[in-house]
Amino acid sequence: PTLRGQDMPNDSPELDRALRPQGLDEFVGQQEARSNLRVFIQSAKMRAEAMDHTLFYGPPGLGKTTLAQIMARELGVGFRMTSGPVLAKAGDLAAILTNLEARDVLFIDEIHRLNPVVEEVLYPAMEDFQLDLVIGEGPAARTVRIELQPFTLVGATTRLGLLTTPLRDRFGIPTRLQFYTEDELCLIVARGARLLGVAAEEDGVREIAKRARGTPRIAGRLLRRVVDFALVEGDGRLTRPLADNALTRLGVDKLGLDGADRRYLSLLADNYGGGPVGVETIAAALSESRDAIEEVIEPYLLQQGLLARTPRGRMLATKAWAHLGLPAPAPEHQGRLF
Ligand code: ADP
Repeated sequence: PTLRGQDMPNDSPELDRALRPQGLDEFVGQQEARSNLRVFIQSAKMRAEAMDHTLFYGPPGLGKTTLAQIMARELGVGFRMTSGPVLAKAGDLAAILTNLEARDVLFIDEIHRLNPVVEEVLYPAMEDFQLDLVIGEGPAARTVRIELQPFTLVGATTRLGLLTTPLRDRFGIPTRLQFYTEDELCLIVARGARLLGVAAEEDGVREIAKRARGTPRIAGRLLRRVVDFALVEGDGRLTRPLADNALTRLGVDKLGLDGADRRYLSLLADNYGGGPVGVETIAAALSESRDAIEEVIEPYLLQQGLLARTPRGRMLATKAWAHLGLPAPAPEHQGRLF
């Protein structure tokens, strides 16, 4: 069955949900994480216990939320979802925890942004399935202990380094998600095209996969935009020339870099001779938050070998100069200010 022609706008949350893989078998890539999770899920089911707490970390859009949902489905338990910044008070978390049923999965996105007070409540909850709540204020304050149903906490973070050690240590299954290969992204784009009811040629699919920054979320977004061009300006078929043209017009270059990536690289090349430059300086010059730089822009540039992180700051790699069409400076001139 296709989703097109069913009154489903191209960007609707319904479509997004339908494109999400439902089971571990449908989930493409992350081979190692997937085969380990399969064992832990199976074992938890055999023991009839809540699965161990799991932490997914890696850049945005790689499938952390999707995997958490898949875990709940494969375990046959309920799924609750919240995020670090949303849980402002201890009571917010307590309300969610006391409403969980036995073995449910509680997903906390952006868990590195938990309020420390809320995090304190989480420790005994994770460890002993107990909640220690302070009732009242001043001399009349007292602590009550509430027993919780055993549950599985699934945390997601783009920044493992920002997690406190006590929180990090309480996850039995820390799992790092990697960027996807071109072949894996081809499978994801082809599946998306099929679900959208679009006729896609293999090298059209590959063109999108190549330029998706190793990220399924971006692959999905680019696919939808290319389909728009295919419908309006083409004959509805997803071909390579059509994808190439559409992506170039969207500002996505041959390596899959977008405007923000190129501004980053150009800043280092044009203003700092390739670096080294501190991340704070880069953030200020680009008017981006340091978090966005470190979580979104840099991981892919590092993975592509365009950028190097040194103790003295960020430096452009030779490949970046070539990509910008500029001659790389001789090594002895780089970083001469330091
Ligand atoms: P994260 O939580 O890491 O930011 P999500 O789980 O929200 O990422 O995934 C982003 C999008 O990419 C979703 O639309 C999801 O369906 C899709 N996606 C992620 N991983 C895969 C995968 N392995 N196969 C197919 N689609 C995927």
